[in-house]
Amino acid sequence: MPEVIKQLPEQVANQIAAGEVIQRPASAVKELMENAVDAGATRVEVRVEDAGRTLIQVEDNGAGMIEADAMRCFSRHATSKISSADDLYSIVSKGFRGEALASIASIAHVELKTCHTDSEHGFQLSLEGGTETESLPCAMEVGTQISVRHLFYNVPARRNFLKSDAVEMRHVIDEFHRVALAHESIHFVLLHNDKEVFNLRAAALRKRIVGVFGSKYDERLVPVEESTDVVGVKGFVGKPEFARRTRGEQFLFVNQRFVRHHVLHRTIMEAYEGLLPRDQFPLYVLFLTIDPARLDINIHPTKTEVKFDEDRHIQSLLLPAIRRGLGKYAVAPSLDFEQETGLNIQPLQEGRVVSEPSVQVNPDYNPFSPQHTGGGLRPGRGQMDAWKSLYEKTWNAEANQGVTELEADQGTTRRSAIGTNSLEMVLTEDQVSSVRPLFQLQNKYIVTSTKSGLILVDQHRAHQRILYETLVRQLESDVNQSITQQLLFPAQVDLNAADRLFVLESKNWLAKFGLLVAESDDGIEVQGMPVEGENTPESLILAVLEEREEEVAGVSREERAAARLAETMAVRIGKSLKPEEMVDLVDRLFGCSTPSLDPFGRTVIVTFESNELEQRFR
Ligand code: ADP
Ligand code: MG
Repeated sequence: MPEVIKQLPEQVANQIAAGEVIQRPASAVKELMENAVDAGATRVEVRVEDAGRTLIQVEDNGAGMIEADAMRCFSRHATSKISSADDLYSIVSKGFRGEALASIASIAHVELKTCHTDSEHGFQLSLEGGTETESLPCAMEVGTQISVRHLFYNVPARRNFLKSDAVEMRHVIDEFHRVALAHESIHFVLLHNDKEVFNLRAAALRKRIVGVFGSKYDERLVPVEESTDVVGVKGFVGKPEFARRTRGEQFLFVNQRFVRHHVLHRTIMEAYEGLLPRDQFPLYVLFLTIDPARLDINIHPTKTEVKFDEDRHIQSLLLPAIRRGLGKYAVAPSLDFEQETGLNIQPLQEGRVVSEPSVQVNPDYNPFSPQHTGGGLRPGRGQMDAWKSLYEKTWNAEANQGVTELEADQGTTRRSAIGTNSLEMVLTEDQVSSVRPLFQLQNKYIVTSTKSGLILVDQHRAHQRILYETLVRQLESDVNQSITQQLLFPAQVDLNAADRLFVLESKNWLAKFGLLVAESDDGIEVQGMPVEGENTPESLILAVLEEREEEVAGVSREERAAARLAETMAVRIGKSLKPEEMVDLVDRLFGCSTPSLDPFGRTVIVTFESNELEQRFR
């Protein structure tokens, strides 16, 4: 029998390791930035082209390498950071596995230029797929520059798996943020396609956070600091009223290394208990300092997971530290809770005039009491479920061949095709057309009768459904730009670099919604807005920014953004409506393909059949 077991060539082993360490351009950015930090650099410049597909270049002014080290650094398990297993328990550097450069080199074209503090000249080395193609002396300042071109050129499966530039760049920025937040005393620069995205000079942590997220964040931060013999915590948490519905502003570092730690995340959320509506996440940038001997960071190749000897001890420090921080700054509770009022039908008095809504203050309202923390109309249940239901209920429904928004607006045509098969609630066209009269209940529901009974329509959700279907129709149409309300004076919306990039990448499909944006110095400029709805340009942009993932449960980002916009634009609870506005809303609702649910799968219409009513009077 011939032998079957062979030792894998180093090249193949490196490619396999690369699969774990380098998943996308952002992973290479992280590894190269961390190497620069480990080399003691005070300035690190990251340059990417096409979100890192074409080029990732990291240049630092750190210690550099002598020729012999430069020749060795691309071999597997080549590291200057540890020499024995014991060293694993005293690691203070970012790297130690000696895998990153070997992995990157095996799947790209790499050029290294480096000059060590003690060398007279620099040294330059080129590799293709891990094989050296050229090495020679060169002139350069002390430091290191590594250029990675054509990442995954020899791993087509990986290359094809990459997402759009917008998404890949978002990952690059995420990694950049993590390293930059953990090392505020280092000057970091990020350039994308020759344009500066970040230029963060060495500064105190607060200033670094503001540099990363934007100037508005300064007032949102609350300092936290506490320590025991074993562990220290330091950093900032966000005031609860600025919490967001999306994650992405939660940063926990252990010994200056970004980590994911579900237990500690929950502990931090616990500190906010009673201060946040459901499904909202506060910002935090927290640094734990702990003796490396009490820590195992070796459990994952990308080193983002840690195990502590004493989770409990850390929790018992973290929770009161954050509570104290929040308390000290007398953080005002959020006033943004949408309260659900109970359904309490009062008979409509004859001749009663509908009055303008007035501000209602609930003196019993206590944001710390759990019964007030429900999100009301916010997408309360797990968002995934909501999107799933959105997907199933909406996309499986018959496409609406009904009237256009404009026609409905002008009242020329009233509801045509009601996608009856998509209506869970069986309302025939005949029944709907006999809908009358209408009145408004608690400035929240439109009450009307049908042949078979009584129906209540949630005005906010109904309007969301209408707007959502309109926006999706516009998205699918061939028209590049929908009807828009041109702003006489374009509105400036301040955004941090990452958000700004995200909005600008979406410019074309936003125009289909009638939302016209352009680049400006500090963020973006809104030049046109959708015609319907009373909104600020900023609220619309923030709504769009709530959806960052390309695809969730098979629903595209554009469609989910349409739902967010509809939610923002829709008429509010508490607004009193004129009779003609109610008629219009109800009519347009029944012109929708799925009138019974809002874009998030929540109930829009409640019916009381006549027999149900009769039962009640028995
Ligand atoms: P690790 O960081 O785990 O040691 P890497 O593969 O990332 O492994 O790097 C291998 C070695 O190359 C490092 O240990 C370090 O000695 C050297 N090196 C890498 N990047 C730089 C840099 N920017 N400046 C100086 N030395 C570097
Ligand atoms: Mg490294």
